[in-house]
Amino acid sequence: MRGLLNSERFRRDHRWARGRVSDYLDGELAPAGRARMERHLGECAECRRLLDGLRRILDGLHRLSPPSDGVDALGIAASVRARLGELD
Ligand SMILES: [Zn+2]
Repeated sequence: MRGLLNSERFRRDHRWARGRVSDYLDGELAPAGRARMERHLGECAECRRLLDGLRRILDGLHRLSPPSDGVDALGIAASVRARLGELD
């Protein structure tokens, strides 16, 4: 079990970290904040899940955004159609 002081710090870090996970993902935390976040992520499964969830949402948004450079939506559609064709 954690000591009292340790859990007090943990709760403080937890409140602090929950509001800053997206800043952390965006690389907007100062080095000291990043270090604090990474230490907390190392000891808090809940915040790690929060980080994973946010990261997946951001990845999804990037995939949904209109193709600008190199994303070949037509090529993807063609290969999907080709695969569907293989099923016939
Ligand atoms: Zn936490």
